[in-house]
Amino acid sequence: MSRSGIPATRREAQELVVLFSRRLLAEHLVYYTAGNISTRIGDEPGHVAVTPGSTAYDTLRPEDIVIVDLDGRVVDGRLRPTAELPLHTLAYRDRPDVGAIVHTHSPAAMAMAAMGLDLPPILHGLVAACGGGITTAPYARGATDEMARFTAEPLRHRSACLLRNHGTLAIGPNVEHAYNAACVVEGVADAYLRARAFGSVPEVPGEDVQRIRTEQWMPAWASEGPSHSG
Ligand SMILES: [Zn+2]
Repeated sequence: MSRSGIPATRREAQELVVLFSRRLLAEHLVYYTAGNISTRIGDEPGHVAVTPGSTAYDTLRPEDIVIVDLDGRVVDGRLRPTAELPLHTLAYRDRPDVGAIVHTHSPAAMAMAAMGLDLPPILHGLVAACGGGITTAPYARGATDEMARFTAEPLRHRSACLLRNHGTLAIGPNVEHAYNAACVVEGVADAYLRARAFGSVPEVPGEDVQRIRTEQWMPAWASEGPSHSG
């Protein structure tokens, strides 16, 4: 594992994707074969490791994780990559700062995505993990390039967004960060839906949102950038 949290080798990337796939299932962020995870590979700048389509996470093995190039062509692997591959490849092509992507189908976030609700910055943790409140990307049919393109704007200054009528998409400089963002979105979405039963939900004060962004969220990205020599 390199300093940035990006796995160095193909095998390390495959093992990391399996580890976090198991967590997805254990933490109820997906059902059965839904959702997907990918990471860049440090030693192979043009390749990413991604979960296969229609494979149950509990039986997933490192060799099941597919290696693809940034155009989505399979480089190595006996299984097909997830049908939602454009969500991954488009982001990697557009954003050199994105090291990993986690797509979940978690219950509270799906309820919000179904209703087309945005998630305001109602809790400190959301701002620290995602950079502020997050929005829902416009509707597009699943597994299309369009669905992936619609996430570019909501993710421009955030680590996550909701996909209308679908689920959550989280990005990060590495899997740890992207996975954490996906978890926090689910927790805060659940809190938001409960709190709304009591009326309008107060937000974290604006100046504190800026402070948390600057002190906690931005360093998580900046420290992983190419300029970091530590
Ligand atoms: Zn999906």
